[in-house]
Amino acid sequence: MSRKIITLPNSHLREKSHKIGIVTDDVRRLIEDMKEATLKWEAGRDHEVGVALAAVQVDELVRIIVVRNDCNDKKNLEFTSFINPVIVKRQGELVEDFEGCLSVPDIYGKVSRYGKVKVRATDENGQQFRISADGFLARIFQHEIDHLQGVLFIDRIKENSDAFFQLTAEGKLEQLNYEEDVRNNSILW
Ligand code: ZN
Repeated sequence: MSRKIITLPNSHLREKSHKIGIVTDDVRRLIEDMKEATLKWEAGRDHEVGVALAAVQVDELVRIIVVRNDCNDKKNLEFTSFINPVIVKRQGELVEDFEGCLSVPDIYGKVSRYGKVKVRATDENGQQFRISADGFLARIFQHEIDHLQGVLFIDRIKENSDAFFQLTAEGKLEQLNYEEDVRNNSILW
């Protein structure tokens, strides 16, 4: 089934997702749909990579995320899925870097995230596993697990007038005018 990625101002993006009880075929099918939707989104863009997706972004309010196995290689189309993912440890310093979201089109922000995290999740066979991540991957986990709580990256930088950027047609990031384009933008809030 081909699924559409929802974007702001869809209010479902700010709702909490529910825990998955048993990993059924429907769950596994949803995971495949999420991977397909991410790759389809990416295929239409020259300057962006679809690195991860939360189920809420295909309008299913359940606690599932999929993350690309190699975020630096667009040709690697493999993903790993994380059911009921939880950050069990946050470590290292807060690092500020650019972040975007498939549900917040063309806007990028400078967001502070922990440098290292440990995540516990369930796999597609119902088995629990843990993974340690640092750098960009740690950022991805924090961004995606925020989605399950109904939190978007822009919500974390809402008051930070220097943190908002826009992707130009040439693939460059340009700072947005906070008052005009961000603070008073009814699509975002
Ligand atoms: Zn996102």
